[in-house]
Amino acid sequence: MPLYEYRCTSCGHRFELLQRLGEGSEGVECPRCGESKAERQLSTFAAGAASGASGAFSSGGRGGCGSGFT
Ligand SMILES: [Zn+2]
Repeated sequence: MPLYEYRCTSCGHRFELLQRLGEGSEGVECPRCGESKAERQLSTFAAGAASGASGAFSSGGRGGCGSGFT
């Protein structure tokens, strides 16, 4: 779930909100004044989140666990 940054147009308070993708900004209330006049800001970090973690971690080789109890 992406984290969106909102700014209240009523009191100017800025806050962050976790929302599902595609969810709009309607009904988002400012935690400070309670007005639902929050405006979504452009996210600062979501831009480079396109490339996910793939591969690079798959080659199974966890060495170093040799328990020699006899
Ligand atoms: Zn507010």
